Amino acid sequence: MRITGKQLINGQWLAGEAGQYQAVNPATGEEIAPLLSYASKAQVAAAVAAAEAAAPLYANTSAAQRAEFLQRCAEEVMALGDELIERVMQETGYPRGRVEGERGRICHQLRLFASSIRTGDYLDIRIDTALPERQPLPRPDIRFMNQPLGPVVVFGASNFPLAFSVAGGDTAAALAAGCPVLVKGHNSHPGSCELVAQALDNAVKACGLPAGVFSLLMGSGREIGSELVVAPAVKAVGFTGSLAGGMALFKLANNRPEPIPVFAEMGSVNPVVFLPQALQQSAAALAQGYVASLTLGSGQFCVNPGVAVAIAGPELDRFLQSAGEALAKIPAGVMLNDNIADAYDKGTAHLAAQAGVSLAGCGASVTAEQGFYTQAKLFQVDAATFLANPHLQEEVFGHTSVVVVCDDQKQLLQVVSSLKGQLTGTIHCTEPELAEQSKLVQLLRSKVGRLVINNFPTGVEVCDAMMHGGPFPAATDARFTSVGTASIARFIRPICFQNYPQALLPQELQDSNPLQISRLVNGVRTTAAVEAAVAGAS
Ligand code: NAP
Repeated sequence: MRITGKQLINGQWLAGEAGQYQAVNPATGEEIAPLLSYASKAQVAAAVAAAEAAAPLYANTSAAQRAEFLQRCAEEVMALGDELIERVMQETGYPRGRVEGERGRICHQLRLFASSIRTGDYLDIRIDTALPERQPLPRPDIRFMNQPLGPVVVFGASNFPLAFSVAGGDTAAALAAGCPVLVKGHNSHPGSCELVAQALDNAVKACGLPAGVFSLLMGSGREIGSELVVAPAVKAVGFTGSLAGGMALFKLANNRPEPIPVFAEMGSVNPVVFLPQALQQSAAALAQGYVASLTLGSGQFCVNPGVAVAIAGPELDRFLQSAGEALAKIPAGVMLNDNIADAYDKGTAHLAAQAGVSLAGCGASVTAEQGFYTQAKLFQVDAATFLANPHLQEEVFGHTSVVVVCDDQKQLLQVVSSLKGQLTGTIHCTEPELAEQSKLVQLLRSKVGRLVINNFPTGVEVCDAMMHGGPFPAATDARFTSVGTASIARFIRPICFQNYPQALLPQELQDSNPLQISRLVNGVRTTAAVEAAVAGAS
């Protein structure tokens, strides 16, 4: 076994100085060998110092060097082989297919960032050449580009042990941007964290990068997580998890003498609106699709559909009946840890206790005597009750959902209008029906990061066009995505060079355009050298 229970600090694997613990298999409740350790605050300080020292060196690497590094990271993750897959399965209760899918996803993501930064597009190069003869004042030569922010702290999520963890989206984006990364691993899958960190450490060494480019620290969020966020050398934070956790870190970061951005992706109930014609045409199929989306991975997805909205009628009755039938076939699901299972049971009990809420269906009840299993549940409530009770739109993390039954279209719009910011909003409809729903579309556009038509929200593609984020409380900053190549924008900042000697400019800004990247030169997008671009424009 390769797992040592140590921390990765400045390129060295060191036993944590703040106590020992063991991972737990959520399917059995049993502890998993070996003994692991927690990092101390002094070890956090050492890792931050290493990241600070690495930052200017890593910022000066070329995009091609970083692309090679990211590709090497993907190769090293794959080289972990089945040991990684089995450890993740043991620590999460996820089936092999899900874990292999996540591994494929992080490797694809690392490679996608590698090819994306090679284009130079993320640098957003803008050049306004000098106009010495301009009246009444001459214009100096001004050149704009993005540069890395500096060391980034990444909090791994419990529910994506690979995709939003040690080498997940936040880490890949920050490393691609040229920022050293300090990961606070999630205690729900610590052995998996260590294995992936070993892969990244191998890649750092193979590519000859400074040791502080990547560190892994395990421990309590309130202890070492907070310590990382307040460290003066840290310049940004990436987080995926609960609203309470995200907001605690956001406040901590904003109360620093030098506030820093916290890009937190938090809670969302991901409303799904079923319009009448769609329900008339395929109520049963939509119900089955909804239940499949709701119960995937025991519902432990930030894009899990937690609220459905539709207008009362025989087609909605058919939908509810089919959903109940589909749900009855769903076995009890294993949750990631005892806290999450406990929060789910309390959350669904709280929902069930609300006036006007009734159970519309449930999965098989829990029979296992060990492990952290819960039962899938679907609730139903009329729109007037939903509108009067804000608790009904609070996220319960797991495989539960509330169907809001509206009297008419006007009430359906009121329900959607009452929703807070969301990661996704979905409409099931016919095309002519959608064409008549400009008000609904406008409302959803103002509230969500991703608008889905006739699909379900689960499944977040890693690609150039993805937006995974949304207005608060879905995320702390609606302007950014945490998935896809656009997520690099969180970890860069613009700088412009005025009247700077040509030979000393970064290559990306030099007149000859030696990297042949796309640039905006005097308002015209071009890959040509400045001289040719200026001549072409005149
Ligand atoms: P979490 O509690 O927000 O924890 C995520 C990470 O943030 C962990 O590393 C945690 O450290 C750290 N953290 C949390 N609160 C902190 C604080 N006040 N100060 C410093 N660090 C802090 O999320 P989770 O562990 O994924 O899930 C726990 C609960 O969050 C669940 O019961 C669920 O209801 C809810 N939730 C999760 C998600 C998600 O996408 N993961 C979405 C919605 C809701 P520790 O390991 O020490 O706690």
